[in-house]
Amino acid sequence: MTVYIHPSVDNGVKKGSGSFAGGTLVCKCADKQVKVGIKGDVAHNHACGCTKCWKPEGATFSVVAVVPRENVTVLENGDKLQIVDTSATIQRYACKGCGAHMYGRIENKGHPFYGLDFIHPELFQEAGSAAPGFAAFVSSVIESGVAPSEMAGIRSRLKELDLEPYDCLSPALMDAIATHVAKTTAKAA
Ligand SMILES: [Zn+2]
Ligand SMILES: [Zn+2]
Repeated sequence: MTVYIHPSVDNGVKKGSGSFAGGTLVCKCADKQVKVGIKGDVAHNHACGCTKCWKPEGATFSVVAVVPRENVTVLENGDKLQIVDTSATIQRYACKGCGAHMYGRIENKGHPFYGLDFIHPELFQEAGSAAPGFAAFVSSVIESGVAPSEMAGIRSRLKELDLEPYDCLSPALMDAIATHVAKTTAKAA
């Protein structure tokens, strides 16, 4: 049985160039595309199984990465952007035409990831951005309708692709969150 993860990794994960200088994210509309300029390379690129991230038709996972918020600039047709859920921690700006999420922003200055925007590197018109390196919130794909019996196959396919599966975030990101919490708690004490 073929296990599909995401079109950008199903034929093997393409390595980043290591010197990606940035590029332009382009939405899926046939015309008047939303274009968002990104300076520099992406970080913490990963496959995500959560139900909130945008994924292309038929994909089980999204592929999502972060960039510093000051490196994100809406270049064209920003009037087509709308926040998917204004009550969510991450304000995901989606194109009203095609539904693609162009960037997600955290406005809560106390959040561990404040200052980072979430983007989908597959929307770059340029090749070479840093490749995904792990898979997060893997068990959550069940919430999107994947049968629990398919999970063993999905996890082994992720490992085969060198996308180590985690059911929350990667240890590096979990450590970053805990470090932030420890600092905040120490200040409050
Ligand atoms: Zn669009
Ligand atoms: Zn997600």
